[in-house]
This record gives sequence, C-alpha cells and structure tokens, in this order.
Amino acid sequence: MALVLPFSLIEPARSGTDFSLFRVQRQTKVRRHASNCSSSNCQPVNQSIQQPIATHCPYCALQCGMRLSAWNGEVSVQGDAGFPVNNGVLCIKGWTSAETLHHPERLTMPLARNQRGQLEPVSWNEALRRTAFGLYETQLAHGRDAAGVFGSGALTNEKAYLLGKFARVALGTANIDYNGRFCMSSAAAAANKAFGIDRGLPFPVADIADAEVILLVGSNTAETMPPIMQYFDAQHHKQGKQGNGGKLIVVDPRLSPTAQTASLHLRLTPGSDAALANGLLHLLVRDGLIDRNFIQNHTEHFEQVRAIVATYWPERVERITGVPEAQLIAAARLLGEAKTAMILTGRGPEQQAQGTNNGLAFINIALALGLVGKPASGYGTLTGQGNGQGGREHGQKADQLPGYRKIDDTAARAHIAAIWDISETELPKAGKSAYEMLDTIGQPDGIHALLVMGANVAVSSPRAGRIKERLRKLDFLAVADFFLSETAELADVVLPVAQWAEEEGTMTNLEGRVILRRRAMAPPAGVMTDLEVLCHLAALLGHAGRFAFESPREVFDELRRASAGGIADYSGITYEKIEEQNGVFWPCPTPCPINDHAGTPRLFADGRFPTPSGRARFHAVQHQAPAEEPTARFPLYLTTGRLLSQYQSGTQTRRVEKLLKITPEPLAELHPMTARHYGLSAGDKIWIETRRDAAKFKIKVTTNIREDTVFVPFHWGGAQAVNRLTNPALDPISRMPEFKVCAARISKVIEE
Ligand code: SF4
Repeated sequence: MALVLPFSLIEPARSGTDFSLFRVQRQTKVRRHASNCSSSNCQPVNQSIQQPIATHCPYCALQCGMRLSAWNGEVSVQGDAGFPVNNGVLCIKGWTSAETLHHPERLTMPLARNQRGQLEPVSWNEALRRTAFGLYETQLAHGRDAAGVFGSGALTNEKAYLLGKFARVALGTANIDYNGRFCMSSAAAAANKAFGIDRGLPFPVADIADAEVILLVGSNTAETMPPIMQYFDAQHHKQGKQGNGGKLIVVDPRLSPTAQTASLHLRLTPGSDAALANGLLHLLVRDGLIDRNFIQNHTEHFEQVRAIVATYWPERVERITGVPEAQLIAAARLLGEAKTAMILTGRGPEQQAQGTNNGLAFINIALALGLVGKPASGYGTLTGQGNGQGGREHGQKADQLPGYRKIDDTAARAHIAAIWDISETELPKAGKSAYEMLDTIGQPDGIHALLVMGANVAVSSPRAGRIKERLRKLDFLAVADFFLSETAELADVVLPVAQWAEEEGTMTNLEGRVILRRRAMAPPAGVMTDLEVLCHLAALLGHAGRFAFESPREVFDELRRASAGGIADYSGITYEKIEEQNGVFWPCPTPCPINDHAGTPRLFADGRFPTPSGRARFHAVQHQAPAEEPTARFPLYLTTGRLLSQYQSGTQTRRVEKLLKITPEPLAELHPMTARHYGLSAGDKIWIETRRDAAKFKIKVTTNIREDTVFVPFHWGGAQAVNRLTNPALDPISRMPEFKVCAARISKVIEE
C-alpha cells in the first residue's frame, strides 16, 4: 500500500486543530458531567472529594482493591475490604502509590528536543504534530514497518487495544510489541500449547487456601505480591492429609522470604527447571501416583512424555539440579499423595531461553496427576505486571489481534478488519518481538522510529546498554510517560500522560478477572490521557473517523465487539457488570437478555479444553542447558529478580521516598563462602562482569543464596542497571529473553 502524506500533516494551518483548546473543552465537559451525575460509574473529578473512591493499585497483577480519598490535593490510600482478592490488605507499594500523583518530578507539559539537542517545553499542538510527522516521515523513507510501537503490561485494556489498532490502522506497521514479552510470554506460550487457552490462573486466587499441597516454582510472592500470602497462610493452617496443615513446596535458587515459609525448599541450580520437573514426574510414574483415568479421558500424547521422563532418574536429576534425591522423593510423594494440589509457576522458570519448555514440563505434572479442572487444584502462572493478562489479549502483541486471536488466522483477520473498517489485506502480518524490534533499530530492515507507551525499555531490556545505544540511533523516538524515565530521557518528543487515579479503564488481573479502575481525580493541567494522545495522533495521520472516541467506555465497547467469539471473549462484560460483581472473569460472551452470562471463574471444570481434540496436550521436553553456563572465565551464575519495595523498572517506585529508604540501591547477594573466596565482607563493592558489560554493586552477604550464584534486583537504571549484564538469548517459541541465568565473574572494587 502506497503511503500518502495525510492532509493534516501537509497543511498544519488549515487542518487547524488547536490541542490546548481541545483539551480544555474536554476537561470542562467531564467536570460538568461529573458534578451533575449521580451514577456510581461517574465519579467526581475535582480535587476536593471527601468520599473515598474505590479503585485499584497501579502496580502488580494482584490489582488490589483500594479506596482513595482526596482533599485539596492531598490523597490518602486505604485497602478496600470489599474487594475479594486482597480483602483490604495492601503491600507498602500500594500504601504509598498516591505519592506519585503530585510528585514534583511529574511531567506536566510536552517536551521536544531543540536544535541544541536539549529537551524543552512545547505546546501539545507541536508535540503531537512532531510525533505524527516523525513516525510518518520515517515510514516514507524506509517503509511502513520501519515505524515501531512499544506498549506495556501496565496499560489498561482500552489502551492496549487502541495501541494495537493505532499501530495497524493509523501507522499500518506490523511492528508492535510490548514489555510483557519480557515477563509473561513463555507462560502464555506453554498454556496455549497445552490447554489451548492462556489465562494465568484458571481459578480464583482464593482457591489457593483449599489446596492440600502447592508446588510454587520460581516465584517470590511474599515480596512481589504480599497480600496473596493470606491464602498461603490459610492453606498452611488448614488440615492436610497428615492432619498437620497444608504443605508448600518452593522451588527457587534463593531461600527467598517465600521459600522461608515453605515446608520443603528445593534450591535448584539456575536453569535446571525442566530437569527438576521431569525428575518429579519420573518418580510419580515410577511410584504409580499418576491419574490414569484423567490421562486417558482428557489428554493426549502422554506416552511420549512417559518415554522421556523415564530417563530422568533421581541420581541424574540430582546431578543436574543440585537438589538431593531425598528431597525429590519427598516432593513427589507430597504431590502424588495429596487429594488436592496446585502447581504455580513464576518468572523463575519462565524468563529463560527454555521458558516455554520449562512451563510445559510443570504442566505435564499437573496433567499426569489429573489436577487440571479439579476443585482446589490445577496449574497456574502468577502474572507479574498490573495488566500482564489483559495486555496480552487485545492486540499489542506482535502476533495477536484482540480477543486473543492469532494474526495469521484468516477468519480472525476478517473479523477484526471489519470492526476497524479496513480491508483484510490492509491489516499487517505478524511483526518482530520486543527484543528483536529494539535490537534491529538502525538496521536496513529494522526500526527507525519508535513510539513507546508506558514502558522503560532502557532499563527493562536485556543487554540494556546496547539497547540504550540502539535507541540513540533512532531517527525519531517519542515516549508517553508521566515521569522522565531513562527511556524518555532519550526521546525526541515526550508526551506527559495521566496516571491510574486520573482516568477510567479496565484491567485484567492474574485470575482473569476484569476489574474497573475508577477515576478519582482530574489529571494535572497540561496532561493528556494515553487514549487522547492516540486519538490525536491517528487524526493527524488521516484516521480521525476510526479513532473518534470520547471516553474509555467507548473504546471498551469496541474492544468487546472485537473480542466477541475470540478465546478471550469480553463481549458480555460491561462496566456496570464489573461493578455489580466485583469483577468479571473472562470468557464472558455476549449477554442474553434472558440468561445473562456472569463470566467464568473456573476453567476446564467439565474436563474439556479448547484444543482441536478437546483434550489437554502433554509435551515431551528435554532439559537443555542455559544459553550460558559458568566457565573458568565466568565461574558464577548471575540471576535477577524483584524486591518488596520496588516495582519493575522503578520509574514510579524509585521516586517514592518511603520505598527508596527501604532499599536505596541494588545490592548483590553473595553466599558467605563465595564472599570469603573473593576476600569480600559485607558492604564491599564488587564488579560483576558478563560477556556483555560490567556493573558495580555493593554486596549483601547471606546464606539465602547458593554458593555458585549472585542475585541482583533489576529495578534500577543507568550504572546500577543489572540488565546491562543479562543475556538476550531468546526462547525459540515465546521470544522471551533469558533474564534469569547467565555466566558472570566478580572482582572486588578497589576505591581510590
Ligand atoms: Fe499493589 Fe501488588 Fe502490592 Fe497489591 S500486592 S498493593 S496490587 S503492588
């Protein structure tokens, strides 16, 4: 399709849109409406509200319910006891989340780079026009796919949906992906392959309390989402098979705060998850603890798996994983003899170049034990980002269209093209995955201009130093954010946008529960919402009619129609139903006036799966070594993870004083034996070096880490960004990078 310069970019004077005026009119309209409206869907938007407004935390995938009260600019936060996920409990990130709203570093006017190369304030009119022109000019020079769009698992469903539509309709580029590729894509790929559907938890989180045994793999929930621990505590105190409470088995190279609560901790070698899972299944088969009826009636391909796991005898698995045979046998017995059991995975096994296989190996155990679809049992993955689930369902992923449709499915393409009022041939094909998109910047067939919304790729990408260099090579970079993140610092144009409490929208939490974030206050003057930014840019690119949305609700209504009939069917979900039911679990097909669909809290209860055969699929997987194993030159494993007091790339949480006080800087955790070997004591600084880069960290000496492993949290940028060291080796199926394991060496820093 030939590119034609849109009228609005040719004739700025005649196209005549004054964005500052437009903004004022829209705000006035919302305020007037709000002050007259008694609907519970329409909350007051001025800064003097006294009645608390129920909304949700801006951070992780638990999406805890909270109540915001504001009085003359002061905002206070309380846990919402009426929301049945967190039951009023918040972690410190949630308690302090309002501090970002009136933060002195908040961006309140657009910035653009001047001729001296510095960012300076400009009008919205200029910022939007420069953004539209920057993207468009690049496409004229290098082709449509030379413009990329990078989204986020923090965006609401409405934004994720509109961003996908913007990329494919307004820009006509195939290249849109998002930071969920760094977080959830391996778990998603494994679930799709095994079950034909990817919903993080196929049951409500409260079911955790009723499971007799839980195998928790590579997830430190006590720090990443503390309110969920109320269910693990309840599970622990309930009567188990031996009458002494439920059992928790934690698999983690670290004795994390979560592992410290476990009945059994399997401290595996980083990168050996598939071997561990195959070894456990070997023992379950050997000891006759598998559910033959379930396997025969509800699954396929078990025989291939049985043949593979037969070679994972305990001595071999102990050699690969470092987990003693006695512990393997104890874990297998606990799982195999329990009446109800759950297997839950986190980023540990997933953020690896074998991430999809690792997920499949643990799903094999859940299927062999007949746990899937059984009450208080099953397999699930604990989603990380706030909208990590919804963010991967509605079209901001390179290979997907809304409703979790595949972009290479002819019927799916026709359905979405009709909703978007374009022909199917105009709809681009699958584009590059997140890391590949960033890594091809400046290459002949790569990305030359980029729009980033809600992501901080200069910190969150593996080999972050190189990605930063790549970003500098872009012909044009625009970033929409509310702080000047490390990525925004590199931009040609920075678009200041609203935060979670300042706009309405839906999120889908780790249970697949669609919830409503209510608007509690107006954004500061000079700030637009992401949706407004996208609509304005689309209009400048000649697509005003296809982006004529007046509210998030209107976007959601189109999303509902687009998702109808898809795997993630939201067509029966309305803002009203979400409010009535405290969230609605998808799939929720179109409501029928007589028998309205209430959503689907539990999947697979009928023993059927959305695969061609209706059966769940086993997958035979072999253990494969990580892309980098320790050598004489790089003798240690480096692994990365999260802390209680920080969230993701830290753009928000590093600006909250109370959180920064808890952990002012990233510390490298070293075992005392390792520290002694290198002549180090607590508080010393070390260089950690990998084949990509080197970075300096203060050490924390702790027996909670293996002697062969260094752990560093990844929430910091610049010189403190551990992702400068991580390995961008990609999983061949999910295209997820190997954040969790690479080879490293350390040396003491000798300060002058
Ligand atoms: Fe927010 Fe997650 Fe903490 Fe809940 S657990 S308060 S959603 S960061």
